[in-house]
Amino acid sequence: RQYRHGEASEVVVNIPDGQVVFGEHHPLVVVAGPCSVENEAMIVETAQRVKAAGAKFLRGGAYKPRTSPYAFQGHGESALELLAKAREVSGLGIITEVMDAAELDKIAEIADVIQVGARNMQNFSLLKKVGAQSKPVLLKRGMAATIEDWLMAAEYILAAGNPNVILCERGIRTFDRQHTRNTLDLSVVPVLRKLTHLPIMIDPSHGTGWSEFVPAMAMAAIAAGTDSLMIEVHPNPTKALSDGPQSLTPERFDYLMQELAVIGKAV
Ligand code: PEP
Ligand code: MN
Repeated sequence: RQYRHGEASEVVVNIPDGQVVFGEHHPLVVVAGPCSVENEAMIVETAQRVKAAGAKFLRGGAYKPRTSPYAFQGHGESALELLAKAREVSGLGIITEVMDAAELDKIAEIADVIQVGARNMQNFSLLKKVGAQSKPVLLKRGMAATIEDWLMAAEYILAAGNPNVILCERGIRTFDRQHTRNTLDLSVVPVLRKLTHLPIMIDPSHGTGWSEFVPAMAMAAIAAGTDSLMIEVHPNPTKALSDGPQSLTPERFDYLMQELAVIGKAV
């Protein structure tokens, strides 16, 4: 979309605790939480722990895009209710993924930001539908999408009438899957800054696939100039139903937040 002079280059979201702004000239926004919403106790506990550490949004999947049809698929609608509960008790905003347009309305009822995952980045009918509703959209980069593909996907949402899109880099497929799950492309930060006014988020959890590599890449993302971060946090990663190996414990997340506050944009 043509950048128009005076146009806001930020996404403003009203969460229970107040207003959060994603954008270059605003404090870093941290989104944290488990890959999947597993049960009430774990999602409420995670919400409280990440809130105490300084996160503004709780992430958690109700509908999960899993490679295997036999893997945990998410609890669906009942998980949305648990996210609503976590929102109420913590004051955090909620970010959760829509996989199917049929679920969009009920997700939009509880989510403050709607995530379109990497696997649906070029699901054009879904993009048109999230573009035709009013909740902000977090658009993750497809694992084999060029920056042009990604920006054109964002354009579908903008063209359908929704100006509030955040772009999230989550790693792309390269040739090494032995040591990292994906290759986190941090060069997108300056490149997107040049090409678009849309706010930028970096997800080092999916980007590396291993919790031990997440802190370094979170710090690198801030050094590159990201506006926000998405970090997977689970109260007991070894027992997680999805993405345990890349999830930080709440203690490690709390420590990371202290490290981030030292190096970058005020958290
Ligand atoms: C997620 O955020 O849990 C997720 C499935 O991400 P991606 O679409 O980037 O794989
Ligand atoms: Mn995940």
